[in-house]
Amino acid sequence: MVKAGILGGGQLGRMLLQAAANYPVETFVLENDEQCPAAHLCHHFTKGDIRNFDDVYHFGKNLDTLTIEIESVNEDALEKLEQEGVRIYPRPAALRTIKNKILQKEFYKLNELPSSEFRITGSLEELRMHEAFIPAVHKLATGGYDGRGVQLIRTKDDFSKGFNAPAILEKMVAIDREISLIVAVSQKGETVIFPPVDMVFDPYLNILDYQVSPADLTERALWRVEAIALKLVRDLKSPGIFAVEMFIDKKGVVYVNETAPRVHNSGHHTIEAHYSSQFDMLWRILLNYPLGNTTAILPSAIVNLLGAEGYEGEAIYEGLDEVLKMENAFVHIYGKTRTKPGRKMGHITILGKNRKDLIFTAGRIKQRLKVIGSIKL
Ligand code: ADP
Repeated sequence: MVKAGILGGGQLGRMLLQAAANYPVETFVLENDEQCPAAHLCHHFTKGDIRNFDDVYHFGKNLDTLTIEIESVNEDALEKLEQEGVRIYPRPAALRTIKNKILQKEFYKLNELPSSEFRITGSLEELRMHEAFIPAVHKLATGGYDGRGVQLIRTKDDFSKGFNAPAILEKMVAIDREISLIVAVSQKGETVIFPPVDMVFDPYLNILDYQVSPADLTERALWRVEAIALKLVRDLKSPGIFAVEMFIDKKGVVYVNETAPRVHNSGHHTIEAHYSSQFDMLWRILLNYPLGNTTAILPSAIVNLLGAEGYEGEAIYEGLDEVLKMENAFVHIYGKTRTKPGRKMGHITILGKNRKDLIFTAGRIKQRLKVIGSIKL
């Protein structure tokens, strides 16, 4: 049997392992936390640091293939493993480009992929020199996730919110909508695209609020975003799953925001709503099988289940019975025992023919279902 490793043991690894159960594959997970969401679903769990060269190298050296569920991994170890013949998707070179926002933006520019104009800053002092460039958005080069590591700089008073570390300052886009589109690239270089999804963000937490699929795009816009995403993955020259997040501005101009070289939060609906899910697809890629069918069985929406404000401790799922009674809702609880405000604890996928109904049901679920904790803050 093929031995396949996953770096990281969070919810993405967990859902990837759920899909692995259908394939002839022996699974391995490297992660620091033995209680992580993926730990009990793999054949072999190794406790270790995915950012540490030795941990990653020793974990990977007897495996046939490796993938990631988070970007913050030791890519030097992955490069050595690749040289020694381990099939690593995404390829370490593509991961290196994407992982650092400075390199990622330079890659878009070099390959003429549309993305907002930017400047590189090394410190707060350097940031302050770019008054003529604002309104803009300051983004940490490495280490930011879920909106942490992103600061809106509307006026010069906001400069103090910026990062005193390597970062990019990019022109603020007058965003009309944010979409995400997932592309799968096989080892032979074949590609398939999942339909784009509309992402709606919580303006306070800067985290995905709900998502609807397919995105409500004109044919022309759909053609354009698909063409951009396909060119992007070809330029990256790597098999794997790639989630391309894009902005469309008020005039209909498309910008690439960022790319994730892995299964992605914006693709969770594909588990129930599409013939082949993003997780199923990644196994097809890793195991060198034909790619799957990305067509939607039905339109869908996702509601993220976040730890409620004001609580931490052992997670309590309030309103779960009510959601489980809904005939078109699919509950995913990630198995994290402890909650804290804003922590991703699960998601609900809703299927339905009608977009308005999907959004209505998403709102209802958000109101009724809460993850509270045993400790009130
Ligand atoms: P993260 O990787 O932490 O999710 P993003 O780069 O996606 O960070 O930025 C988070 C959010 O900030 C985006 O979803 C968007 O709403 C806003 N944002 C990011 N870049 C820009 C930009 N150039 N113009 C306007 N808003 C932006």
